[in-house]
Amino acid sequence: DLPLVAIVGRPNVGKSTLFNRLVGRRQALVADTPGVTRDRKEGVALLRGRSIRLVDTAGLEEAAPESLFGRMRASSESAVHEAALVLFCIDARAGITPSDEHFAAWVRKQGRPVLLVANKAEGRAGAASAMEAYSLGLGEPVAVSAEHGEGLSDLMGEIVEHL
Ligand code: GDP
Ligand code: MG
Repeated sequence: DLPLVAIVGRPNVGKSTLFNRLVGRRQALVADTPGVTRDRKEGVALLRGRSIRLVDTAGLEEAAPESLFGRMRASSESAVHEAALVLFCIDARAGITPSDEHFAAWVRKQGRPVLLVANKAEGRAGAASAMEAYSLGLGEPVAVSAEHGEGLSDLMGEIVEHL
């Protein structure tokens, strides 16, 4: 079985953009399972010669109208628990929000290995929020721009190292 890597984070940080970047076109394999896991989009990504199963925890907008945190947790809980590695994504441009902090605290408690990904860090945008991102207690952030394709090679290396 391929190791499972789960992409989590609050809405709009760029999880789906990152998923699409890493999975690419060569894998059209997307499994949307009905029921509880319907929010999960899955694909296989080849990172430095190593295949992983990547899960995008999406579809928050379709979830029941509870608190944002409740919806984030509900949509990512099973993926986080099954994951060999969790990619916790933040928006380097927006900086750390209370939702990020609350969600990070929950993710930390799940006891899975976590890699902090500071997305939207194209140009110099990543540096400013990097220090702030340490406060999440998830280690050193890896700065990427999923949309512009920056930092992805480093991220792939970090993912493979954590597996
Ligand atoms: P999700 O809700 O976390 O899945 O986020 P999406 O992948 O849907 O992206 C949310 C928005 O952020 C979209 O408008 C994307 O085009 C934008 N976005 C994603 N990645 C980047 C990035 O690296 N840089 C910038 N500037 N915008 C990005
Ligand atoms: Mg999404």
